[in-house]
Parts: sequence; structure tokens; C-alpha cells
Amino acid sequence: MPRTDLLERLAVQTSEREHANLRRRLRTVEHVEGPWLESGGRRLLGFCSNDYLGLSQHPQVIAALRRATADEGVGSGSAHLICGHRREHAQLEEMLAEWTGRERALLFSTGYMANLGTMQALLARGDVCVQDKLNHACLLDGAQLAGAELKRYPHGDVEAAARQLQGRPQAAALLATDGVFSMDGDVAPLAELAALCIRERATLMVDDAHGLGVLGAEGAGSVQAAGLGQREVPVLMATLGKALGCSGAFVAGSAALIDGLVQFARPYVYTTAMPPALAAAACAAVEIARGEHGRREKLQALIARFRAGAAQLGLPLMASHSAIQPLRMGDAQAALDAARALEQRGLLVTAIRPPTVPPGQARLRVTLSAMHEDEHVDQLLEALGALPPRAAMAGLV
Ligand SMILES: *Cc1c(COP(=O)(O)O)cnc(C)c1O
Repeated sequence: MPRTDLLERLAVQTSEREHANLRRRLRTVEHVEGPWLESGGRRLLGFCSNDYLGLSQHPQVIAALRRATADEGVGSGSAHLICGHRREHAQLEEMLAEWTGRERALLFSTGYMANLGTMQALLARGDVCVQDKLNHACLLDGAQLAGAELKRYPHGDVEAAARQLQGRPQAAALLATDGVFSMDGDVAPLAELAALCIRERATLMVDDAHGLGVLGAEGAGSVQAAGLGQREVPVLMATLGKALGCSGAFVAGSAALIDGLVQFARPYVYTTAMPPALAAAACAAVEIARGEHGRREKLQALIARFRAGAAQLGLPLMASHSAIQPLRMGDAQAALDAARALEQRGLLVTAIRPPTVPPGQARLRVTLSAMHEDEHVDQLLEALGALPPRAAMAGLV
């Protein structure tokens, strides 16, 4: 057998995706303004951004970024442990620790890296990592890269998680879950999982990328909304690129956890620190997210309006009360057809297909933001109601 050519094999895999209606395509967005975006010369009303509070366009966040760039330049110049850890980073870490009720917090350049780094620092070969089946891809990758045995329990099934932990009673164990599930929008049974972990002496890690800023008093997230502190959820991760409208991520927990991550989390150690101006912008975003309750209230009202309208239309809603409001479409073609029909009416909603979601569970992932107005939601509902029957009904068959 001749040696396999890697690029040829990759091209074959790509064309297989094309045939299965699963090929992903990039879209270039030329401009954004509020919930609107311009793409391919057209103006579209977007329902797919994770900028749940609209902070990416907030004047105070933009001003903080401008000011810090003027004072400190653009790049941080090096990794945190060399000379890249600036005052802005330190200040943001303090604010995040205080907001989430943890002793300390540590910044990472992306959420993906935060999860890889944290799991790699905590886990070793022979350990077990128990995870919800619908966890974000980077949690799954993190456990695998760390060399731990990965066990995945059916979505939200605390009993199954318990059995998986009890199946390896001698092994050091991490149980990792999304707080708010990124493609379903529902919240993990956090209190039950926390009780289980305490009982089984496992460590609980919650990825609250979609909960921070949106849920809980002062927007401190799903963990705080569930009334859980650092003892119950010792490893809390969240991102700055969603409701905070910036970019980057952090892990919060005990001083011992953070000290250990600084030593052993390779995606922290061996990468350039985020630009200090971005940290300054995130500080401004945290202040607004904590203080301006009106943004969260407006978002909740829009979510309620969307759900009531969609229920009236008989649309295949899912059990979500978060800003993520997926509509089940069934197969990938149905989801694509629906997204195309919406785009023709000037609405941008992403079709989410396997492998991001399980086969047969393709969906339209509608996300709402405090930037939307009632009439935007009504416009979306009207377009959804007018979808051709196949696309509208696919979720029901
Ligand atoms: C977006 C997301 C991440 C990755 O965060 P980035 O900062 O975009 O790399 C991790 N976990 C969950 C649940 C997410 O939704």
C-alpha cells in the first residue's frame, strides 16, 4: 500500500460533508450596527450572536478599549509569566473573582484554551472525567488531551453520572458540565450535580460561557443563580466573548487552584497575554453587566415574547428559558432550507447541524439580545410562521 496523502484524505472528507449537507461555509460580515449586520451587500437582522447584552457596541466599553490602547499600545508583548501581565489584567481578575464570589480568577486568551488548560492541569492518565453528553466540544477535547478516561452521561441525567463515578471509586474524578448548554439553552441540574460530587469526592467544574451576565443576581451566572459557592463548584469557568461582548475567558476558584493553573496549565503559560486594552474593555463590560439590570430584564421580556409567539404558532420550541431558543428542524436539509428561507426575508438565523448536535437533531439556533426590540422578535415570528410546511413541521415528525 502506498502511503496515504494527508491533504488528499482531507479533501475527500470535505467533499463527503458536502454530499451529506453538512459542509460549513464562512460568511464575511462587512458591518454591524445593533442587531443588524451587512453581508454580501445586504442588510440582515441577526438572531445568531452571543452578544446577549449588546455590550460589544456599548460606548463605555468602546471608550475603555480606545483609552487603554492609546495609553498602553495594542499587544501585550509576551506571555503573562514573562512581562505581559499588565495592570489591566490584574484589575480584571480581581473584578471577576469578586463578581463570581471566588477567591481568585485567572485570565485565558480564549474559553477553548481555558478549558484545555484547566483540565490538563487537573487531570492525569488514569483519572476519570465524567461529562454531560451535550457539553461544549472544548470540554470533551480537554479531557481527551489530558489523557483521562472520558465518560459521557445522557443529557442532564444525574443518576447516570452517579453510576459513572461509582464505577471508578478509586480514581481521581472531575465532573464537568456546561452551566447553560450552548446548543439547547437549558440549564444543568447544578445543585444535584454539586451534591453528587461532594458525596463522591469528585471535583465539579462548570463552564458558564452562556450564563455569565445573563443569569443570577447581578448577572453572576447560572452557578450563582443555583445558590452555589466555591465549596460546591470549586472550578468555575466563563468567557468574556459572549454576554460581556469582548473576547477571552477566565477560571475562578480558590487561590490554590489559580496558583496551580499558573504553574501547570500550558495554554496559559505558553501563549501571549490578551491585549491589555481588551482587559480594560472587559472591566468596563463587567461593571455594566453587574449594574445595568435593565438589560437583563429587557432580554428576559424578549425571550418571553418569543416563546409565547412561537408556542402560538406551534413551532418546535425546546425547554429553554435562556437567550438561546433553538427550534428543532430534524434533518440537516430541513434546517438549511429554513435558514435560507429566513435569509430571503432578511433574517439571519444559523442552522446548526451534526456533528455539533446529534444526528436527526438539526435546528435553527435563535439567540436573542437586549439589542433587539419587540418588533424585531415579531418580525422573526412572522417569518417563522410563513416557513414552507416541510421546514416548519420537520421538528414534529
Ligand atoms: C463559546 C464557548 C466556549 C469557548 O469560548 P471561546 O472564548 O469562544 O473560545 C467554551 N465553552 C462554551 C460552553 C462555549 O459556549
